[in-house]
Order: sequence, then C-alpha cells, then structure tokens
Amino acid sequence: MSRVFVGIGSNEGDRLEHLSRAIQALGSTPGISVTQMATIYDTEPLGPPQPEYLNTVVELDTTRSPQQLLDALQLLERQLGRLPSAQRWGPRVIDLDILLYDDRILNEPTLVIPHPRLHERRFVLEPLAQLAPTLVHPVLRKTVEELLANLPVEQSLGSG
Ligand code: AMP
Repeated sequence: MSRVFVGIGSNEGDRLEHLSRAIQALGSTPGISVTQMATIYDTEPLGPPQPEYLNTVVELDTTRSPQQLLDALQLLERQLGRLPSAQRWGPRVIDLDILLYDDRILNEPTLVIPHPRLHERRFVLEPLAQLAPTLVHPVLRKTVEELLANLPVEQSLGSG
C-alpha cells in the first residue's frame, strides 16, 4: 500500500461540484481509498487572465503503481470534464496531479514525481501542509512546512 498526495483544481463551471465529484469518484475507484482531504482554497490564477481556481489536496492509500494511478486520474479527468449539462470540453473543469507518491522519485516522459512545480505553489503547499506538514520532499530534502515558509509572500490565498 502506498501513500499518495493528489492536487485537485477547477476553474470552470460549478467548481465545488467538480471537486466533490472528483473526490467521490477517486474514492470509488478500485485500488484507491481517500484517507484525508484538506481545506478548499480560492486561488488567484497564475499566468494569463482566467477565472479563479478552487484547489485542494487529498491523501490516498493505493495499491496502484504510479503509472496506473496516473491512468486512473486521466480517465477521471476525461469523465468529469464532460458533465451532462455542458456541451463544451473544458480543459480546466478538473485538474488532478500526483504530487507525492511515498518517497518515490520518477522522471519519465509522462510522469514526474514529486510534481515538478509542487514546491513553487502556495495553493498546493498550504493544503498539503494541513495534511502532512513534516513530510520530507524526497528531492529537495525539506519538509512541506519548510517549503511553505520559503515561498515568496506575493501569492495570497483565501479559504473557499
Ligand atoms: P496538465 O495539463 O497540467 O494536467 O498536465 C498533464 C500532463 O502532465 C499529462 O500529460 C501527464 O502525463 C503529465 N504529468 C507529468 N507528471 C505528472 C504528475 N506528477 N501528475 C500528473 N500529471 C503529470
């Protein structure tokens, strides 16, 4: 059994509904149990102008390999991306990222673990620190709490 943290985001349509559907669907996927969920945050988008995100992080226990887990997350993204009421295929209806998988380090073309931008993003580190403040990033060798403390202050977050 492996302990995994998954980042979840949505910035299109009924964002809260998308997050809760994703978490429910994860929990009913064979080989995955959802063991903890962080607070949901309202997040200013980075990069080009776009609607605000809702973000959170969940902890999973899984018997799936990293690649099998990525396959499951991508299937869920496709399933949740097309809601009954929506005509359009919205790419950011739901975004599921593997942040950490035990203390594994993977650098494959389709899968990089730990997630390569995890340590730069307050909207990932804040909810992750709620669930696992003392967890050590296996590449950077710092705890989640330390990574959070090292972030520049300009990114602000509100509780959603
Ligand atoms: P995005 O559009 O930002 O959700 O990126 C999805 C792409 O990132 C997919 O093609 C994945 O193969 C790749 N990817 C690489 N590392 C990860 C990771 N740790 N979690 C999720 N997707 C990943």
